[in-house]
Amino acid sequence: MSTPEHTRYPHFINGIKSEPTNGAYLDVVDPSTGQVHCKTADGCEADVQNAVSAANLAFSNPAWREMSKAHRSQVLYQLGNIVLANGAELAELESRSSGGTITRVSGLDIIAVADLFFVLAEAIKDYSFSEFLPPRLIPEQVHTTVLREPLGVCAAITAWNFPILLLSWKIAPALAAGNTVVVKASELTPQTTFRLAELFSEILPPGVFNVVSGRGETVGEALVTHPNIAKVSFTGSTATGKHIQRTAADTLKRVTLELGGKGAAIVMPDANLELAAHGALFGIMMNSGQACEAASRLLVHEAVHDVLIERMVDLAKKITIGNPLDPDTAMGPLISKAQFDKVAAFIDSAKGAGASVAFGGKRQVVSGFENGYFMQPTIITGSTNSMTHACEEIFGPVVSVIRFGDDDDPVAIANDSRYGLSAGIFTENVVRAQGMARNLQAGSVWINDWHMMRTDAPFGGYKESGYGREMGAHSIDSYTQIKSVSTGFEREPARKLPHHFIHKF
Ligand code: NAD
Repeated sequence: MSTPEHTRYPHFINGIKSEPTNGAYLDVVDPSTGQVHCKTADGCEADVQNAVSAANLAFSNPAWREMSKAHRSQVLYQLGNIVLANGAELAELESRSSGGTITRVSGLDIIAVADLFFVLAEAIKDYSFSEFLPPRLIPEQVHTTVLREPLGVCAAITAWNFPILLLSWKIAPALAAGNTVVVKASELTPQTTFRLAELFSEILPPGVFNVVSGRGETVGEALVTHPNIAKVSFTGSTATGKHIQRTAADTLKRVTLELGGKGAAIVMPDANLELAAHGALFGIMMNSGQACEAASRLLVHEAVHDVLIERMVDLAKKITIGNPLDPDTAMGPLISKAQFDKVAAFIDSAKGAGASVAFGGKRQVVSGFENGYFMQPTIITGSTNSMTHACEEIFGPVVSVIRFGDDDDPVAIANDSRYGLSAGIFTENVVRAQGMARNLQAGSVWINDWHMMRTDAPFGGYKESGYGREMGAHSIDSYTQIKSVSTGFEREPARKLPHHFIHKF
């Protein structure tokens, strides 16, 4: 039950808090306790319209759109610094709302958010916002400038698993390119998005960064269909991504899609097994498996299969599950009851398909948090790619172990998936691994570790994991459009060769 004293998050439009037009709010549940802990605006089309109008007006202001690279770089540095200065508060809010452990959120996520702003602050100094092309054979005496211009108002729609991190991947390049944004955070975890909007309003002009809260089918849909939105950058499930691509086609919006995954980690017989056991568990259990690029399939050579699984079970027993705000906790809760039930159903389906639960598979009761959505780290052996749990995205702390032998091609097994976000290889032969990496159909390939995300390296999917790349300087490209401006310097009409096609001189 919600009570009036719960914190309420209205929209954030044009630099100020803005009550939802219909006055409606949604309950937001703390995944550790199962209790409502705040409320967020349940927005509607009129709210989206207000936010897009504010963003449009802010975009029409040349002071923002045409800001010099030097000045914009300073602004990006300021944004990164304000994240760091408020890191402790943001980390606590993020940990409480998403269930991510405080140790990881403060030690990794917050730093990575700030670092992305710093990386792009540097990148735009050398970014080719304008490039001069000298004259060519034809047309004669024409000089051309190629301009990269911002798109306009960009919509960012994010998921609940790493709310502030996913947000930064979209707004940092959008702002670096001079766009304005309207964000819709997941209705399950809107808190840090609102706090960041407030903090950034100390630096950004009003209307540059707006947040409209609400459900996907209302606020999300209104953003995707809005004629004045130039681009939608979406992180979420493949099913919603496909729907967004179809819907955005009506207004021919640009779309970037960061979708689901079913990452395969290959353990070769020559692997350092201690490293592989630690790495494989880190690859799936971080954020309780709620990571799009998690190592959710583990392909193990039969020569090392049993010894590796035995070691992984030993290590899994020692993973501390509990309150994400406790610095000793390694795995927090799943985000919601619906997500918990979905993960439990996949574990049941694995058993039904003939696979074995080598460890975990059950709800974990945490003292003091008895209603939280805690799931044990789960290792399922005897899996094959054709089993539902081994080919569908579970999005929970469940690794599907697939055994392969000398006659099998582990790269082919890894590629036998509709997803292509991450893949990896554990081996001591890193030369052979380079060749395998080139054949793996995934946007990120990691050798001898997992989650090696860098703010200066592009991240994104192959196949049904989506398209477009976030992070790194490349990400600015997808928030710009290119214009060529050509100037003729010949003053005498008769000396312009093409004019002779029409005129007699
Ligand atoms: P989801 O697709 O249910 O929702 C994502 C966002 O889209 C939410 O904000 C939601 O409100 C909104 N939405 C829902 N319906 C919409 C519609 N019709 N129009 C517009 N917006 C709509 O996904 P989720 O459950 O929040 O997130 C989990 C998924 O996200 C997983 O599949 C995961 O793999 C994926 N993910 C991908 C990446 C990546 O970078 N590739 C990163 C994190 C999560």
